[in-house]
Amino acid sequence: MKPFTTLLKQQQGKINTSFRLGKIMGIPIYLHISWFIIFALVIWSLSFFVFPHEFPNWNRSLYWIVGIVTSILFFASVVAHELAHSWFSLRQGIPVRSITLFIFGGVARISRESPKPLEELVMAAAGPVSSLVLAGAFSLIWWLVGSYSEPIRAMTGWLIYINISLAAFNLIPGFPLDGGRVLRSILWKASDNYKWATLWASRIGRWVAYIFIFAGIYGFFVPFRIGLLEFGGIGSLWLAFIGWFLENAASSSYQQAMLREALKGLKVRDVITRDCVSVPQENTLKQVAQEHIIPAGRSCFLATDGIRLSGIITLKDIKAIPQTQWDTTLLKQAMTPIDQLQIARMEDDATEILDRLDQEDINQLPVIENGILVGIVTKENLIRFIRTRSELGI
Ligand SMILES: [Zn+2]
Repeated sequence: MKPFTTLLKQQQGKINTSFRLGKIMGIPIYLHISWFIIFALVIWSLSFFVFPHEFPNWNRSLYWIVGIVTSILFFASVVAHELAHSWFSLRQGIPVRSITLFIFGGVARISRESPKPLEELVMAAAGPVSSLVLAGAFSLIWWLVGSYSEPIRAMTGWLIYINISLAAFNLIPGFPLDGGRVLRSILWKASDNYKWATLWASRIGRWVAYIFIFAGIYGFFVPFRIGLLEFGGIGSLWLAFIGWFLENAASSSYQQAMLREALKGLKVRDVITRDCVSVPQENTLKQVAQEHIIPAGRSCFLATDGIRLSGIITLKDIKAIPQTQWDTTLLKQAMTPIDQLQIARMEDDATEILDRLDQEDINQLPVIENGILVGIVTKENLIRFIRTRSELGI
């Protein structure tokens, strides 16, 4: 699902942090740079520790080969898990932007949430169920071929274990993990109250995260074990790290869900920014700052080529450029050119605009009415609008 969307998005903003692997079911699959760390770690621990410990009689290169093949199958299992979510999402008519593998596993960027609790339940459960099905398939191979071939026994044995772990971890009932989404859909169905269900599912998600952080730090000093799992030393800090990550994911997913909820029923005309000024595109950012931002506090600029609109630039775009370069950077170099702009209309739903901004990874949409540009709608604006409204208690 998209538990890690927000954090990933910050990283994906810089285009070169992910490498495109190919397309499955029309969905682009990416490898985030952090994935290479975990890939190397998995190969290393399998080839140096796990397999040599279990099967001491192989030669060195066999450990490497089996280690690499097993790691590739492990990541294929993660992709299969995300594809299962995606398949149900596509069936409900909800587009999936991408699947990215990164240090904590995989994430499918699903463009919006299911409108109904039961559909959300199916979509969320599909991932862990697919991991369990894979564990079953590897068990079958293990059972049929395992006694004839040590490498296959080693490979399938570890893949059974890891797919069951993947299912178990994702089934932890804290939002935004799959289990948390299942929990939310059940609470949502039972109470008919999306907000309340999301609040409690993410609260539980944060509690789970705190338990991870606490257990991780505790285990670093005092090693302990639960069943087959041992916690101690650096491995234990990893647990705390995952906890920290889950805490972030739970709070940001909650905010995202509430933002969507708060925008319900609002139209573009309610959230439009109209204070855009026209500025020649040959102006430097420094000129814009001195003439419009500092004295008038404006935040949105329409670049013109003298007569026509050539692009749009917002405060956020300007802030993205180091201040030392402001006197050498022209507006036209920093703006979003008109041919890359999509437009919004006054009657469009605000939630739909938020989805579009998310989907296209853009910050603003110009609003056109009767062929005339009347203003822009930005993500910052949507967020500020909600904040103001909640402060006023409306
Ligand atoms: Zn999942």
